[in-house]
Amino acid sequence: MITASPGARITSPAPADWRQLWRDSVTDSHELLDLLGLGHLAGQLPAGDAGFALRVPRGFVARMRPGDARDPLLLQVLPRWAEREQAPGFVIDAVGDLAAREAQGVLHKYHGRALLIASGSCAINCRYCFRRHFPYGEEMAAAGQWRQALEHVRQDPSINELILSGGDPLALATAKLEELGRGLADLPHVVRLRIHTRLPVVLPERIDASFVDWLGSLPMQKVVVLHANHANEFDHTVDAACARLREAGATLLNQAVLLRGVNDDADTLAALSERMFMAGVLPYYLHQLDRVQGAAHFEVSDAHARALLDTLRARLPGYLVPRLVREMGGDPSKRPL
Ligand SMILES: *Cc1c(COP(=O)(O)O)cnc(C)c1O
Ligand code: SF4
Repeated sequence: MITASPGARITSPAPADWRQLWRDSVTDSHELLDLLGLGHLAGQLPAGDAGFALRVPRGFVARMRPGDARDPLLLQVLPRWAEREQAPGFVIDAVGDLAAREAQGVLHKYHGRALLIASGSCAINCRYCFRRHFPYGEEMAAAGQWRQALEHVRQDPSINELILSGGDPLALATAKLEELGRGLADLPHVVRLRIHTRLPVVLPERIDASFVDWLGSLPMQKVVVLHANHANEFDHTVDAACARLREAGATLLNQAVLLRGVNDDADTLAALSERMFMAGVLPYYLHQLDRVQGAAHFEVSDAHARALLDTLRARLPGYLVPRLVREMGGDPSKRPL
């Protein structure tokens, strides 16, 4: 038992500023391996990053298992030789984003929902991501105080849900999000705001007091769709960020990507569902990988993916089983497998 001595004051340290933590991310493969006691493996890695930088916040590194070269969090961020291999069918624009663009930073593919590419940045660079080929430099809806994007939404009353995506929309400063909030005030047909973000998982300090105040102040319903692929991505800091999001009135869902070597077995996927539910998060989608160049070594076959889902359905309550989907350019929704 721990007892405080009489008169002792327990003061919690000032919360770390998320921008500072972001700047302090690990960006060098050798440093990352050294931190994990894997420095001897450095010679087996490619020099350089194939044009897509290594970037991972230190708090996420702290959740990796030291000494384990196959750690499921490490495999998501470490540049490897396999990325340089050309695989048939793995292309630059795997999901037809270029065709679906309607205004600056607006993708309108599905009925009722418009997706804003709010930011081109992320706090982490995931090696399997389509973004490795799209820094989305000029595509940001946030440019010009969101004007073009919001004007597009205003002219289409069928859009009742606005989705902020990216990149990671929470890479934007809260002040930038507040501008959006003001713009939404005269779009009464938008009844839901959805935010697709990996930041509460990889840099939970982002969910700070001013962000929570902003989110809580919005009059519409709020959905935050997280992105975690493995139970080990959750720790008490992520639990706390999720709790703050729920206190601000957000419904929390998760989308994961099925990744070979990371989460392609039923035990791992079941553990992910159970663990995220402890944080108040329900599984939403389990995505088959977008077939982007450089990610072929992560792909899981459809047959294996379906078998995994059968096992999950037999083991878990229905609400902990994600929907297995693939995104196909031109489809009216994500395609169930
Ligand atoms: C995935 C996606 C959505 C959201 O689809 P839901 O099935 O509602 O989650 C919306 N717009 C675009 C362009 C998308 O890619
Ligand atoms: S956080 Fe999401 S958008 Fe950013 S690199 Fe990872 S998968 Fe891609």
